[in-house]
Amino acid sequence: MVTYTAAIIAGLAANGVGPVAGNSTFNTAAVRGVAAGLTFVNHGAAQWGNLLPVNKAFMKALINYFSENATMKYGNARGSLIDNYGQYCAYCGTPVQDTALAIEHCLPKAEFPSEMLNYTNFFLSCPSCNSYKGSNPTYVTSYQFAAANIANPPTYQNVLTGGMVRQVWPNSGMISWRGLPPYLYDVTNNLILVPAVAENLTNRQVSVVQNTVQANIAGYAQPITVAALVTISFSNPTEQLRENNFLNIVQLNAYQPNVYSDRRVTNRTIAWLNVLLSLSNLQAFQVGSQGWLLMLQQIFITAKNAGFFEIWSWLFYLISPPNVQNSIYTYFRTASTNPNQQFYYFPGTNINDLPTQ
Ligand SMILES: [Zn+2]
Repeated sequence: MVTYTAAIIAGLAANGVGPVAGNSTFNTAAVRGVAAGLTFVNHGAAQWGNLLPVNKAFMKALINYFSENATMKYGNARGSLIDNYGQYCAYCGTPVQDTALAIEHCLPKAEFPSEMLNYTNFFLSCPSCNSYKGSNPTYVTSYQFAAANIANPPTYQNVLTGGMVRQVWPNSGMISWRGLPPYLYDVTNNLILVPAVAENLTNRQVSVVQNTVQANIAGYAQPITVAALVTISFSNPTEQLRENNFLNIVQLNAYQPNVYSDRRVTNRTIAWLNVLLSLSNLQAFQVGSQGWLLMLQQIFITAKNAGFFEIWSWLFYLISPPNVQNSIYTYFRTASTNPNQQFYYFPGTNINDLPTQ
């Protein structure tokens, strides 16, 4: 239960933000107006730091004021979000039971109370990503996300927009897997597997022990421990910074050899090996035949249940690229994005961001 002090209520009223305590209606436009009135005078973190104590006190009051009703209100968005994004974590691609899917504020409530009830700020996330992300991005990292595109000094809208530029898997129109491409890491020997080995269709999962995946990998006499990790593809420093911020915030590579492996990394690795197994099974059929197409449908169903859209699309793209006849990637791309197709398995996927060649 939030206690509204007289000072808080007076402050809210003075800013035209809200009614008295107990009334569930409030003025979103006024909240944004107050936030927009904050003066962002300089790029440097030190300057931001000087501003934050004052601004945060007011923002905290706003959060307290709205939180009871807000939680109830954005909770109602769950069904609509599942329709739009499927039951997958928007950050890592993990399939999640709807009861465990947290409604995630891309711009966190604590830093951006004005966006607490903004539908476009909502995503669904798994407990791990939700926990890692916490109250990030901050103003500073949001600004850094957008640094390539905004003026100096940034406006409040710049910061809002910047914080919304981040990865979403399945991709909902952002840069997705092209920004953070996955690769297969040989944990046992501490090296990155070359594509010819990592994508070999004879690779097989052997076991999952203490959250790490052992597999028979082409060219190795004994099973080795592998992990599907992601790396940053951009060479542009600003884009690198943005991707690095995202990677750190959500901890997509939460993995330390011989210490622990995050469940998300484990499941991503299993998905990688499942793709290879599936494509190996497909080889029993003549390419393009009725049996082949039926088998492909089964594979897409497997993909839907397994989640990790970026792993499936990435490996399909590498192994059966768009320029070959009966490209599995092209079938997958088409089927994943059109609600009228029988293979419509990944809601929210934006085909415009998936290459056609
Ligand atoms: Zn996640």
